[in-house]
Order: sequence, then C-alpha cells, then structure tokens
Amino acid sequence: MIRQKSFEKETPTLYLVPTPIGNLQEMTPRALDVLKAVDIIAAEDTRNTKKLLMAYQIQTPLMSHHEHNQAESVPRILDLLGEGKSIAVVSDAGYPLISDPGQWLVKEVISKGYPVVSISGANAAMNALVASGLSTQHYMFFGFLEAKSSKRKKQLLEMEHYPYTIIFYEAPHRICDTLKDLLEVFGNRTMCLARELTKVHEEYIRGSIAEVLEVADCLKGEMVLIVEGNQKEEVEIDMEEACERVDCLINEGMKTKQAITTVSKEIGCKKNELYDYYHKQKD
Ligand code: SAM
Repeated sequence: MIRQKSFEKETPTLYLVPTPIGNLQEMTPRALDVLKAVDIIAAEDTRNTKKLLMAYQIQTPLMSHHEHNQAESVPRILDLLGEGKSIAVVSDAGYPLISDPGQWLVKEVISKGYPVVSISGANAAMNALVASGLSTQHYMFFGFLEAKSSKRKKQLLEMEHYPYTIIFYEAPHRICDTLKDLLEVFGNRTMCLARELTKVHEEYIRGSIAEVLEVADCLKGEMVLIVEGNQKEEVEIDMEEACERVDCLINEGMKTKQAITTVSKEIGCKKNELYDYYHKQKD
C-alpha cells in the first residue's frame, strides 16, 4: 500500500496537466500556475505545447515524452525527480493518459514514492457525455476501437450486453465503418455524435445509429461517440418451471413437441434449448 498526502510537504512531484481540446481559453488558472512553477514540462509534442506556452507567456523548458520515446523519457523524468525537480506532463489535448501517453510513467513514478498530482481540466469524453442527452448515471469510457473491422466487431460483441452508456473516440476517416459495425452488433440504439467540441464548428448529432450513419460520410474534425447501453431487460429463464409448464400442457392433451414450442414462445427461450433440457430431465 502507498499513501500519498499530496500537499503535506514540499517534495518533487509529477503533475498531470490537462490542456484545451480546442478552445484555448479552457486553461484554468491553477493549470497555468503549475506549468509556470514546475522545472520541466514533459510534452507529447513539444512544438504543439510551445504554441500553448507562448499564448500564456510561459517559459518553462520542455522535454519530449511520447509513446515512441518512453524507454528514454521515463528514466530521464525519474532522474529529474531524484534531483529534486518537479515535472508537469501534458499531451496534445485534454488529459494526459486518456487515449494519450503517460500510463507507464505514472506507474513508475508512484512505485518510486514520488507524489503524482492531477489538475482538473478539459476532456473530450466528459464534454460529449454530459451534453449527449444519454444517461450519465453509469457509463464506460472505451476510447478508440480497433481500426480493423473484424477486430472492432469482436470488441463490440464483448460489450454488447453492457447496460450503461458507452463512450468511444473515433477518427473521421473511420466514422462510417465504425457506425456500420455499431449498427450491426448493437442494433439501432440511440446515440450522440459530438464533434469539434469547444471549437467554432462544434456540433452534436443526436438520434439513432442509422440516422447518424446517414449523415456521417461528410463529417470532419475530431469526434466522440456516446452510445446508449443495452436496454433490453435480461430475463432470467427458470428451465425447471418451463418443464413443469410443458408437462402441464401435455397433461391437457398437447403433443410434447407442440408443448415445447408453445412454452418456448411463452417464456422467450430457444426451442432447442428447452427441448434438450426437457428430454435430459426425463432421461
Ligand atoms: N486526451 C484527450 C482527452 O482527454 O480527451 C484525448 C486524446 S485522443 C488522442 C484524441 C481523440 O479525442 C480524438 O480522436 C477525438 O475522438 C477526441 N477529441 C479530442 N478533442 C476533441 C474535440 N474537440 N471534439 C471532439 N472530440 C475530440
């Protein structure tokens, strides 16, 4: 167990700082203070972050930390913490670690006993979810699905029965294929496509998956899909009870096959399953 009291004493700290997902105004005063106060900012794309720092006249030095240089950047950040330096991690947009790099770094920093502190801020999934009109009570953030349709459908099949709202990130060039797969696996559920959030062309398209698919091929920009969970009530079928009902119909004069067909329709189970269960019980 590791307990962290974030602000009890001054220790070199790793700060996770979200950055705007479009609208540059969405930097909180606290996030800006942290970026000014730390010794180094570890950025997914230093050129991109430089623009943000210039807009807010922040001169903190940058270092590169992304998916493909982690083997070097993570030990370097650990060394800097060891030298008593505090570091802020930023991605190109929104929260670092949310469909962005940083997971391995955070794990390593925690294991070495340094505090990891997150700063509040912009996140595309949350903006889309709260304005979607779909249930926010329980939800799952899935992020990006696989790019290949066969693998994507396999992932969707695994969550087919999930009863709560699901949040996906998707790239515009894959949106039509992904919506087609969603329609095929989930059926025509209610959804919301939220695109270009916080930017001038922000748009919410709320409707059924089939309706959104109709307009999807001309959609550009960054997008989030919010999809209703499986609303079909799972009915627990009591096979013992079903067999008793079959016997009852047989006693009333019905043929066994006919009784099984009738009961399977009544309770909504597969005829073959009830047939097998009934005959196994009688053997
Ligand atoms: N770390 C980011 C966050 O916290 O939201 C997500 C980064 S992920 C690499 C990029 C994806 O996030 C985009 O493909 C899109 O699905 C979503 N996204 C980012 N900005 C967005 C925006 N302004 N509007 C809609 N979706 C956005």
